[in-house]
Parts: sequence; structure tokens; C-alpha cells
Amino acid sequence: MTLLVSISDWMGFLRCRLQWDWMSPNRMNRMPKRPVPALMFGGAVHLALELFYREARNPVETFMQAMVLANTEAATPLEEAKLMELIGKGEHLLLDYLAYYGERPTDDRDGLRVLVTEQEFKVVIPGMVDAFFVGTVDGLCIDVNGDVWVLEHKTHTRAAPIDGWMLSEQTVGYVYAMQRAVLTGHFEDRGVPRSATVRGTLYNGLQKAVPRTGSRFTRQPIRVSRGALEMFQKRLVAVATEMRDDPSIYPTPTLDCVWQCGMYDMCLTARDGIDVSYMLQTETVQRPDRGIVYRQEE
Ligand code: SF4
Repeated sequence: MTLLVSISDWMGFLRCRLQWDWMSPNRMNRMPKRPVPALMFGGAVHLALELFYREARNPVETFMQAMVLANTEAATPLEEAKLMELIGKGEHLLLDYLAYYGERPTDDRDGLRVLVTEQEFKVVIPGMVDAFFVGTVDGLCIDVNGDVWVLEHKTHTRAAPIDGWMLSEQTVGYVYAMQRAVLTGHFEDRGVPRSATVRGTLYNGLQKAVPRTGSRFTRQPIRVSRGALEMFQKRLVAVATEMRDDPSIYPTPTLDCVWQCGMYDMCLTARDGIDVSYMLQTETVQRPDRGIVYRQEE
């Protein structure tokens, strides 16, 4: 069976095997019916910035439409008051973003040019059969010095978690995938030559609440060395091999489960030895397939 390893699947596998077994596209591929508000909010901001940088569309309008649509399509929608609260927060955030960075993508105060938006990838995992590293990067951009970066938009609640981003597998993994795509000339028609080196990941941080001091927006370039890419590949192969090797399934409860895990109620039921197959059918839905744009086949 084809193995698709995304960063979130990888982190899910290390975080809790039981949650991974329920939610991974490589396993049962289910997701909670009720949307997680923070994920819905983040997804709508991502779409707003994607269309802003690709088509210069007004991000506030895109955000509002995306929130309403996501809630309409959810099997168990959020209450009206909660939805309106989230929409109000997003509207202010994106209006502030335009005021801070510029009303049009071409006006960017840092001189950043976004060349590619929302790029899905599927890269062969070396030495394995029918196993791929998959994901979606928010974009590729070029800075005022002419350096190319993976661009990642991040909404966050408190001050930008820069130390966390430095060690994140995503920081290195997305550069690993995009450098391969660049080398094949996949982005030449969008102004990224195949000779370009992807320097690292540039985090475009948007803080949800206005801080007492300073800006709510942070751009943090994190350089990724050749050594880091080599080490990433070794970890990727190790984790993918473990995933395929019929791993034992067990829960890893922590105090964060109650707010972090959409499968909390099912986990509580399973803890008592009760069969949760009925809950799986009634309280979760099948995750939609991902589309793949950049594909590196063997
Ligand atoms: S509630 Fe915690 S232990 Fe249970 S499945 Fe979710 S992450 Fe795992």
C-alpha cells in the first residue's frame, strides 16, 4: 500500500499512535465532524493570503467567505456567535496586515515578492518502494537580496514562537521538497531558475491578538544548511520505515489532550475497553483526498 508521509502525519505518529491510527491517511483517515475553531481560522487566513499574493484579491473578503463556507460545509457547524467572533478577529487581523505590509502584494514594505503560492508536493522517499513525502507549502518568495525562501504563513496566539519554528521538522522538510522541485525546473515559468538555492523557510507570523507593545506581525527567515537537509532525509526514512512496520497502537495521554485532540471523547470511551467503531462512523468523517501539484516519481 502506498505510504504518504506528511509532516503532520509524522508528528501525529510520534505524538500519539492511537490518534494517528484513527486520523492518518495511511490508516483509517477519519477527522472529527465538528471543526476545531483554531484550525478553521488558520485555514481561512491561509486562503486569504494565498489569493492576495496570487491574484491581489482582497484578503478580508476571502477570509469571511471562507469562514462561512467552511462552517456551512462542516458536519456539525459552530454556533453563530462563535462564528461571528472568529470572523471579527480575522477581519481586524487582515486589515492590520494590509496597513502594515501594503495594500497590494507589489507594495510590500520589505520588498518581498511571492512567486509561487500554495504548492502541494509528492517526493519519493529514498530507498523505499511506493513511499512518498507529501505536503503543501504556502509559497516560494524572493527577498530584496535575490534569495529564494519557502514562505509559510503562521497565525499564533502569543508572541511568535521562533525557537519552536527553528527546530520544527517542517522548517527543514519543506525546503528539502522545494529544492527538489526547483532543481527540476518546475518553477522556471514563475521566475525561479533551476540553479536557485532555497535558503530556508521564511515564517510570516500573524499574531491573533494585538500585543501590548510592538507589532503583531513578524517575518523570521530561518536558514537551512545542506547538513540539516541530509539529517532530515535520514529521519524521514527512519520514521517512514517504522510507520510501515506494523507499529503497535496505544494512546499517549497528556494534559493537553482535552483541548488539542479532536478524538478526546472517543479516546475516553476506548480507555474503558469499549468498541468505538460506531462512534467512528457517527462522530467522524472521511478526510478528503489531497491534490498533488508537484510530483517527483521514481
Ligand atoms: S485524547 Fe490524547 S491519548 Fe487520546 S487519542 Fe487523543 S492525543 Fe491520543
